[in-house]
Amino acid sequence: MRQSKLFTKARKEAPADEVAKNAKLLIRAGFVDKLQAGVYTYLPLGLRVLKNIENIIREEMNGAGGQEILMPSLHPKEFWQTTGRWDTMDDLYKVSDASGRENALGPTHEEIVVPLVKQFVSSYRDLPFATYQFQNKFRMELRAKSGILRGREFIMKDMYSFHRDEADLVAYYEMMKGVYARVFERVGLGERTYLTFASGGSFSKYSHEFQTVTPAGEDTIYVCDTCRVAVNKEIIADQSTCPSCESGDLHEETAIEVGNIFDLKTKFSDPFKLTYKDEEGKEQPVVMGCYGIGLGRILGTVVEVLGDDKGLVWPRAIAPFAMHLVEISSANTAVHEEAEKLYRELSGQGVEVLWDDREARAGEKFAESDLMGIPLRVVISEKTLTEGKFEIKDRATGEVSMVNRAELIKMCAMK
Ligand code: ATP
Ligand code: MG
Repeated sequence: MRQSKLFTKARKEAPADEVAKNAKLLIRAGFVDKLQAGVYTYLPLGLRVLKNIENIIREEMNGAGGQEILMPSLHPKEFWQTTGRWDTMDDLYKVSDASGRENALGPTHEEIVVPLVKQFVSSYRDLPFATYQFQNKFRMELRAKSGILRGREFIMKDMYSFHRDEADLVAYYEMMKGVYARVFERVGLGERTYLTFASGGSFSKYSHEFQTVTPAGEDTIYVCDTCRVAVNKEIIADQSTCPSCESGDLHEETAIEVGNIFDLKTKFSDPFKLTYKDEEGKEQPVVMGCYGIGLGRILGTVVEVLGDDKGLVWPRAIAPFAMHLVEISSANTAVHEEAEKLYRELSGQGVEVLWDDREARAGEKFAESDLMGIPLRVVISEKTLTEGKFEIKDRATGEVSMVNRAELIKMCAMK
């Protein structure tokens, strides 16, 4: 894409009321726009990152046998009354229309997916299966100070699995731990993300969170270095050793919850009477698990963890573009032509290139390029033209090298 055609621009300042590093950087670099506290628009650059994250998650969920659907946001009050959560969920947005009919704006979808599934499940032969979606959630978050990490409207991948018994759920749940670990690995958070024991399990004492260590986190966890798992402080009261290897050597960290998996047992099947007939024709309750990941939360966490004093730094797998091609001195037609040639050649090979073809000062272009955080920056100028080489910079390491055309193309293909 030609940067001169990009309708958004980098900005000097983020809004004065924005305190979070992730939102400040993303707004300045033109990736998101703030509509109101906890509510953001994803602009072309930000949306490209979000879609890359979405695709990684989709691949992994499909790999785990998940079937994608899309459920609505507007939920009839009665469904939420069935589970009692209409009255007990503090952060539920409630809206009513002119006729006085009340709806909830979905903060999660157990109340919708269970009655949906009930229409199709009647026998043990219909189980097990899992279904998921990418969907906007609404939550009246009180502390909307963490930028896109804690939105009042945000996109979540939520998956629900349905099983005939506890053993089948446990096997699937254990497999999902590995699937989640792979998602966080692929988006670039693997090293700092810990499988974390938290309260709220139905069978076992625990549910499991995936917590990424960062000072921007709102949770406190205790990390076991021996087996790379952690415990959430909220349950530490009765858990002073590692629940996995029983080591007592835990150290405290601040972290953000990027994902969460729950064994729900029959918590939601019971109120909706979601049952199946077993081999003997006996009615049995369906056993459920649920698995959430916040897409914006992953994006914001990557910014918090990898962003530096110059701006954003994207891992290649989720970067909005693989390469930022920066031409210096557009007045020089030879430079411009060379840039266009390279742009076409790389684009033709499927390399995603953002071409800064604008007339602006070199310093300004470089600062903006650093702010945007595209993994590779290639400069074409009169100097590089004379030398017959391209200057290539790795955004993450700052390493600069001079390479010829063939080497450059190889580097793009490699990453
Ligand atoms: P938290 O304790 O941070 O409020 P939660 O326990 O309410 O999270 P879940 O209901 O389990 O979160 O939601 C699943 C996932 O959705 C979380 O792991 C997180 O990645 C994401 N998420 C939850 N709330 C928000 C939010 N307000 N903004 C962005 N992402 C969110
Ligand atoms: Mg919450």
